[in-house]
Amino acid sequence: MRLSRYFLPVLKEDPKEAQIVSHRYMLRAGMIKQQAAGIYSWLPLGYRVLKRIEQIVHEEQIRAGHIPLLMPTLQPADLWRESGRYDDYGQEMLRIKDRHERDMLYGPTNEEMITDIFRSHVSSYKDLPLTLYHIQWKFRDEMRPRFGVMRGREFFMKDGYNFDIDRDSALHAYNRHMVSYLRTYERMGLTAIPMRAASGPIGGDNTHEFLVLANTGESEVFYDDRVTALKLGDRAVDYDNRAEVAGVCDEFTTLYARTDETHDAALFDQIPAEHQKVGRGIEVGQIFYFGTKYSEAMGATVVTPDGSKVPVEMGSHGIGVSRLLGAIIEASHDEKGIIWPEGVTPFPVGIVNLKQGDAAADEACAALEKALLAKGLEPLYDDRDERAGAKFATMDLIGLPWRITVGPRGLQKGVVELTSRRSGESEELSPEAAVERIV
Ligand code: ATP
Ligand code: MG
Ligand code: MG
Ligand code: MG
Repeated sequence: MRLSRYFLPVLKEDPKEAQIVSHRYMLRAGMIKQQAAGIYSWLPLGYRVLKRIEQIVHEEQIRAGHIPLLMPTLQPADLWRESGRYDDYGQEMLRIKDRHERDMLYGPTNEEMITDIFRSHVSSYKDLPLTLYHIQWKFRDEMRPRFGVMRGREFFMKDGYNFDIDRDSALHAYNRHMVSYLRTYERMGLTAIPMRAASGPIGGDNTHEFLVLANTGESEVFYDDRVTALKLGDRAVDYDNRAEVAGVCDEFTTLYARTDETHDAALFDQIPAEHQKVGRGIEVGQIFYFGTKYSEAMGATVVTPDGSKVPVEMGSHGIGVSRLLGAIIEASHDEKGIIWPEGVTPFPVGIVNLKQGDAAADEACAALEKALLAKGLEPLYDDRDERAGAKFATMDLIGLPWRITVGPRGLQKGVVELTSRRSGESEELSPEAAVERIV
């Protein structure tokens, strides 16, 4: 992509409305534009990152054996009357009437709708286990939308629902979600700690939230700091092996880690003092096991091997896809701008031409662009007729992991400069070697 032809409306001044760094940088880097309180357009750069995050979420859900589908954003109120949540949900639910005066709503979550799909088509244990998920826009009329996409009213969420014949099988689904979430966040360069949580309006006792530590987070968290060193890494996990999956979950949930809602001061005090930590965190996901709460209310039953009919066991599992952009930036930035982890960066590398219009520099940049594209790496080439300082500032702000700087002086020596956004270190090498280095 050539910057002269792209749409990257960078802001020079700090927007006044942004209170936290991720919101400020997302506005300044031309990633989002607010259209109403908590409702955003995703401008091209923001949209690219959103899609990359969505893609990672899909890959890890599919790896865990979960099946994607897509449900609508608008739902009929009658489904929610069946579960009793239409009245319970309160003012966070955006209620709409269609032209026939039918009550509709913009879905804040999809337990009712997925249970309706399930009961229409599945009636036997032979079709279980089954986990269906989608990544779709949600609407919650939050009392205080704030911090940009972190607490929007319209937001993008992955929500998955497992259907199982018994409690053990449903708990395995719960564990599978935990492991797949750990891998999902790690691929985004994040440490998200599973913390025992309280369930709220979804219902059920067994629930963990995933929190990214950040002092701008809205949740207070209490944890044994040894939990932050745990990594899934690239170890292979067999998602069909219940003991293995449960073992990974034990490893990540044995050390104390709780939000203020479930914090237990007596247990916390048993942690060696030097490991006790109190901080703040951003909730980037939550998993629930709630058994038959919805299946019973909505008549979603299955026939067991011995011929009896039982309500299906369920759980639901969410990832805040759009909130993750904010969380990643909170966790990875400096005073110049964003520092994208490689897994989610909008472009893997930027090319800065120090002297646009100089034949040798233009030619070298075009050749670099071509060589990178041939490797499957789409660069963002700043080919504008701008000062070098302005070009560097833009690249630093938008935070691509690598920058290749090309100028007539270096080219005379046969070199370009390769700079790492994270370390700030630069190296002079041949254009071919620079392309080689970027993965
Ligand atoms: P919060 O406690 O932040 O209000 P929640 O517990 O109400 O979130 P869940 O119902 O658990 O949210 O939804 C799953 C995920 O969706 C959350 O973990 C969070 O990452 C994301 N999410 C929830 N509300 C919002 C929002 N208003 N804007 C952006 N993301 C959100
Ligand atoms: Mg909420
Ligand atoms: Mg919450
Ligand atoms: Mg939650």
